[in-house]
Amino acid sequence: MPHDLPKAYDPTAIEDHWAGYWVRENLFAVETPDQDQGLGGQSSFTILLPPPNVTGRLHMGHMLNQTEMDILTRWRRMSGRLSLWVPGTDHAGIATQMMVERQLTTEGVKRQDLGREKFVERVWEWKRHYGGAILEQMKRLGASVDWSREYFTMDERLSVAVREAFVRLYEQGLIYRGAYIVNWCPRCQTAISDLEVVHDEQKGHLWEIKYPVVGADGKDSGEFITVATTRPETTLGDTAVAIHPADERYKHLHGKKLRLPLMNREIPIVLDEWVSQDFGTGAVKVTPAHDPNDFALGERHGLQSINVMDDRGHINENGGAYAGLDRYAARKKIVVDLEELGLLGAIKDHVNNVGHCDRCKTVVEPRHSTQWFIKIQPLAEKAIAAVKPDANGNKAIQFTPENYEKIYLEWMTNIHDWCISRQLWWGHRIPAWHCAECHKITVDRVDPAKCAHCGSAKIAQETDVLDTWFSSGLLPVSVFGWPKKDAATQADFNAFYPTSLLVTGFDILFFWVARMIMLGCWFAGDVPMADGSPRSLADSVPYREVYIHALVRDANREKMSKTKGNVLDPIEIVKQYGTDAVRFTLASMASPGTDIAFNVARTEGYRAFANKIWNAARFIFMNVDRAAEVGIKVDLSSLPLSPTAAADAPLEDRWIVAEFSAAASKVNRSLEDYRYDDAANAIYQFFWGSFCDWYLEIIKLRLDFSESADKASAESALTTLVSVFESSLRLLSPFMPFITEEIWHAVYDGNPPMKSIALASFPPTSEIDSKAQAEMELVQNLIAEVRALRKEIGVEEKASVPIEVRTNAEARAILAGNSTIVEKLARVAEVRFVNSISEGLAKHHTPAFDVAVVYERTVDVAAERDRLTKEIARLEKGFNANESKLTSESFLAKAPAHIIDGLKKQHAETSALLEKARAVLAALPRE
Ligand SMILES: [Zn+2]
Ligand SMILES: [Zn+2]
Repeated sequence: MPHDLPKAYDPTAIEDHWAGYWVRENLFAVETPDQDQGLGGQSSFTILLPPPNVTGRLHMGHMLNQTEMDILTRWRRMSGRLSLWVPGTDHAGIATQMMVERQLTTEGVKRQDLGREKFVERVWEWKRHYGGAILEQMKRLGASVDWSREYFTMDERLSVAVREAFVRLYEQGLIYRGAYIVNWCPRCQTAISDLEVVHDEQKGHLWEIKYPVVGADGKDSGEFITVATTRPETTLGDTAVAIHPADERYKHLHGKKLRLPLMNREIPIVLDEWVSQDFGTGAVKVTPAHDPNDFALGERHGLQSINVMDDRGHINENGGAYAGLDRYAARKKIVVDLEELGLLGAIKDHVNNVGHCDRCKTVVEPRHSTQWFIKIQPLAEKAIAAVKPDANGNKAIQFTPENYEKIYLEWMTNIHDWCISRQLWWGHRIPAWHCAECHKITVDRVDPAKCAHCGSAKIAQETDVLDTWFSSGLLPVSVFGWPKKDAATQADFNAFYPTSLLVTGFDILFFWVARMIMLGCWFAGDVPMADGSPRSLADSVPYREVYIHALVRDANREKMSKTKGNVLDPIEIVKQYGTDAVRFTLASMASPGTDIAFNVARTEGYRAFANKIWNAARFIFMNVDRAAEVGIKVDLSSLPLSPTAAADAPLEDRWIVAEFSAAASKVNRSLEDYRYDDAANAIYQFFWGSFCDWYLEIIKLRLDFSESADKASAESALTTLVSVFESSLRLLSPFMPFITEEIWHAVYDGNPPMKSIALASFPPTSEIDSKAQAEMELVQNLIAEVRALRKEIGVEEKASVPIEVRTNAEARAILAGNSTIVEKLARVAEVRFVNSISEGLAKHHTPAFDVAVVYERTVDVAAERDRLTKEIARLEKGFNANESKLTSESFLAKAPAHIIDGLKKQHAETSALLEKARAVLAALPRE
């Protein structure tokens, strides 16, 4: 990149170029460290990208998440840590399967028509064509990840880890099959986890149904128990009615049976303290196969569990006359039939909290089915210990913001066994084989040919696949090669596990964050440390810190949603303003626990900031070139420089170096604390305020390369200017990687000391010359006061005027030494130090000095007299008119009070103006 930057800053051209360059040059690839040497004592900074769904497109949440990760990774890398950011995508079981099913529907084909094998092939084909689009977007946005380590959760490598984890847990007795009430999606035809169910309030009904009491003779006694339900179709699967044992209303019915309407089945009345006597009639129907509470109640009382629905939500053969009907058609018919039988009570309006499938929005059906589970307690115990402080108060995992620690621990303490099976075709198929002869299960690391129990060859693999979160929960161990044991894998694992940090959103705290901790602690715990010693819990955790980022909302602080139509597409905004400006916008508002109200007006402001930097670069390069013409060269061979100024250098040089050190220290400190906002604002204020508005303006005085000029001063000015500018680019680089890369290469005229600014060193925290800061502050304050005074007394923009300054000896010495700066920046003709400000001058008083502007306005006295005379005449006319009104008794008697008040006020104002004009006229010099 030569010096001659194009006149206009065009982010698109710059960003496309560098994004491609970074990927092509493999700049952020981190090789497996030497097996014997390891990292040679330095610690790595490792971070995993929360894998977006392979079906995904980048949204604002990703953009924030990735900006935060990229800033930290670039900063750590430039600060000298071996920094590795690992990218990848998730196979996203339900989402991807749905996507391909939809595609098939447009071709008039169902997944069942294709069969499992063909369908899975189709999904792979889809993935090859469309999958990973989101990673392409990341490349364009310049994420500094190691693309050579990109993974996909269905990769062979990661699948080996998934299988090993399953088999090991099975062998440890921690995986079992069991009957369970799952959330069943009739559209996706799979069980989904509680976390994948979204609850919506919906208007519905509560139907009362009368169940006849069976008399001693086996016939209906004429008495009824009334129950109420929001889902009358589940009545078909009732196997009891429960009442509270102490409920007086039903004491005489203890031990009796009821006749289940429509099915004509006798069902018992059971006594259970879980039933609330105060709610409804105090009697509840019990459908163990279709309700989690009823399921538990059924277990307590040994009740039969009758599933009356099939996979598609239709009534099955257990539903008698209603078999084959869709669940809602059955509901209608059942209500009609009950009414005909006289068994329908009241129908009440009722607001229902209805669960929907998060993916397809179909109403989920709680349904009894056989699923695979992990006995979670032993894993949860480790996961709790990893987050709670130990005896010394140390935590193996630190949450930021800290309140998430409590939320996490609460969830982990009340955790239920994890249902890991899904009835999908796309995913990791469970490595278990059912035997047709002995009906036992064989689980193995390699596909078995025969039953491990009876030797029969009549075995068939389980059709269920694993929950997507099972594989993503293993990522921190699996991406570094677990369970492989070869030397290279071990070296990788030793160098990068545990990872340093996880940056993610609150929405996947339980889905993913918690599961990575459980699985990480469980499996990494078996991997010895580099020196062969056993691994402690603190070294088994998947990451040492978790940073939960906030939500990006719209400019009005509303949550973005498709329904509201206020979703901002980051790619569109990037096209308009450039990636750097969008990143800076997000960073400037990101701090722990605070949501971001994204306003494009702000992005526009940061685009202007980028422009400012661009123009500064052009100005600097122009001077570098002018200097070169007279043989002055800035020595770039020792760059990157740390900006320095000699102790006897001019104040502005010492000051800008001090300001730079202060900004760099602030940025380092803020990023340690995840205060992206403070870091971004420190850079912004330094670059725009101190560097561009002050330093560049001051230094223009010295950038004189003519024959008669002071060459030594010009050369030292240029050197400080370039070194501070170059360092500032490095300070800004993690936040605005593109523009800084472009300009940085130009600083070196296309011959930079390394391939990228991202590999140069980050400005460290260093000592700040506070004396220079204090002295410059005095000069700046004087300039600010003079500018204000000039405005107040109407000095023409271009006029240079003398000033009078009264101050102490110390300040006087500083101001006198820098009077040229004051003269240039405040258009001062001369700084006069006085013991007292001259009589009659408008002055400003500050704790450090008094200042006055000596201004003798050169006016055309005759014209001014003429103008003032006319003005006075006009004012007098108004004054007299008001005067006569205000002294007229008839007017005062008739006019409303507010009119009189207004007139009095106006009269007083006119009177004051008149007085002032007369005084000015009197003060005009005589001709
Ligand atoms: Zn669904
Ligand atoms: Zn067998």
